[in-house]
Amino acid sequence: MIKATQCIRCGKARVFSKTWSENVGTSQVTYTQSVCPDPVCQKEVELLLKNRHDVAVNRIHESIRRRKENRGKSLLARRATILAKARENSVAGRKLAV
Ligand SMILES: [Zn+2]
Repeated sequence: MIKATQCIRCGKARVFSKTWSENVGTSQVTYTQSVCPDPVCQKEVELLLKNRHDVAVNRIHESIRRRKENRGKSLLARRATILAKARENSVAGRKLAV
């Protein structure tokens, strides 16, 4: 059974824009794609999800980069990097919030 979901932005019940079936191995899988009934809102949601995805991906890349950088550094040097980064982020966060 497919449960209707709500739009994350406006809360309207999302409508199914696309339903298709694919054979996966020996079983048939039905896929559905749902969108907001408001096309303008749907565009915004897509943008929001894309941004969120980009932020998450960037965070992962940053984390890997930091881990590589920190390898071999002393604990004190590591702490200084973390503090500097936190300060940088809080400034950027304030800029974004405005
Ligand atoms: Zn919506």
